[in-house]
Amino acid sequence: MTLVYPGSFDPITNGHLDIIVRAACICDKLIVAVGNNESKRPAFTVEERVEMIRASIGDREDIEVTSFTGLLADFAKKVGARAVIKGLRAMSDFEYEFQMALLNKKLEPELETLFMMTSVQYSFLSSSAVKEIARNGGCIDGLVPDCIRERIARKLTCR
Ligand code: ADP
Repeated sequence: MTLVYPGSFDPITNGHLDIIVRAACICDKLIVAVGNNESKRPAFTVEERVEMIRASIGDREDIEVTSFTGLLADFAKKVGARAVIKGLRAMSDFEYEFQMALLNKKLEPELETLFMMTSVQYSFLSSSAVKEIARNGGCIDGLVPDCIRERIARKLTCR
């Protein structure tokens, strides 16, 4: 079974990575799909975000990292995914995710949405918090994968 894990990943955090590793355990193939949504005014380009995810995952045949434009439901259908997997942190994630899951069900009735609970140590973590800390010169150790920490700090502090 193929699962799609979509998101902005601007940038990938240890919370995302935790979901990626755990989601890969319950499917044959996991496609991590970076949404190319310019209206969100991302700090990193799509290429940078894909590259940082690849570097964080390392060489794994069961995980593919790519980007998509347009509707997630169309992308998931095109790649033959049975379901979309989303991470859930607090109740505040729920309302939005609930709406998206129902909309995607309307667009593509065969496509399921699965939710995986965040690991408790990452429940406070978001890409926007990482950016805010890095922009202000704070320490992002333990919040993002070690191999991309310098890269994030460099890009965000010299803006
Ligand atoms: P963010 O909300 O950090 O900007 P994204 O839009 O990139 O993240 O989110 C992609 C997916 O990852 C969503 O399903 C989101 O709920 C999930 N996610 C984000 N941060 C975490 C975390 N710390 N733990 C679990 N899931 C997360």
